[in-house]
Amino acid sequence: MSLYQKCIPDYYFESIFEIPYQTLKEQGINTLFFDLDNTIISYDEDVLSEEQVNFLLELSKTFQIAILSNSGYKRVSKAVGHTTFPYIYHAKKPTKLGFKQALKKVHAKKEEILVIGDQLMTDVLGANRMGFSSCLIKSVKRKSDRKITQFNRKLEKFILKKIEKKYPDLYIERLEKYVNDHQM
Ligand SMILES: [Mg+2]
Repeated sequence: MSLYQKCIPDYYFESIFEIPYQTLKEQGINTLFFDLDNTIISYDEDVLSEEQVNFLLELSKTFQIAILSNSGYKRVSKAVGHTTFPYIYHAKKPTKLGFKQALKKVHAKKEEILVIGDQLMTDVLGANRMGFSSCLIKSVKRKSDRKITQFNRKLEKFILKKIEKKYPDLYIERLEKYVNDHQM
């Protein structure tokens, strides 16, 4: 599988609220690994709201849930430390490090895991390298991206162009809406 193929998500939805969780459950997914920044909350927010926690709690009746963030301890523990969800900080996505840590906190086979995140270069690439399913979502608030993420976005644009050229059908099916939704 080429690098470009590994950056193609299995699904794209506009937000974590739009994902058809029930359908995914029926397809064998039992574990959700959520990215934090710009997936659940924007960089402008620092704590999960009651609504966000309740949404995840409702999901946790059906799925095992963990939160994997490339951000540091301070940011991640402040955001989700008041919840019961296991979390990994400094996850170093797209490497396998954080995913392997998260695997110790759940009981799931790789084909039962879905990674949900807003970046091709970290969440989607990392998930595909692990053999997990991947769901790309629209960033909560892209203007709040940090420096390192802004750099990733430039790389992402380049990769999107390559995917569009090499895999036009997959691009139209899974990435065109992502590009349009962000007016890239
Ligand atoms: Mg993110």
